Amino acid sequence: MNAGRERAVAASVRPVEAHRADEVLRSALEANGQRFTEQRAAVYRFLVGTDTHPTADEVFTAVRAEIPDISLATVYKSLETLVGCGLAAKLTYGDGSARYDGRTDPHHHARCLACGAVVDVPGKLDPASLEALGPVSGFSVAGYRLELLGYCAACS
Ligand code: ZN
Ligand code: MN
Repeated sequence: MNAGRERAVAASVRPVEAHRADEVLRSALEANGQRFTEQRAAVYRFLVGTDTHPTADEVFTAVRAEIPDISLATVYKSLETLVGCGLAAKLTYGDGSARYDGRTDPHHHARCLACGAVVDVPGKLDPASLEALGPVSGFSVAGYRLELLGYCAACS
């Protein structure tokens, strides 16, 4: 089961180039028994073309410029479909808010405590740092999620 998950991640490691987004989306949707729609395509193109980790509202605002009659509900559903197909990651927070990431290879985030901005962390953690946390009694570790907290350049 773990091996399967690792394979799925490895298959999506390559960043999607914007001009290939429609093609990547079409095959992932078809593999998941879903239909390719212009709405889903516009949402996906926007998501892979940005590193801002937008909220659904921000995606809605951006995509409306291309598809003026798209609804927020359709944007929500499209985002959830992308997550379900493994084409996007959903970052959820304790206050119930969520952000979406078109980058699905393993990486970590830094989040601003003032404005909520989320940026990618460039480096990887040395596996020895994880071992330094020590074994957790009776717990088998399948992965980890690291989030740096602080203040972005605009807020500090
Ligand atoms: Zn900030
Ligand atoms: Mn990210």
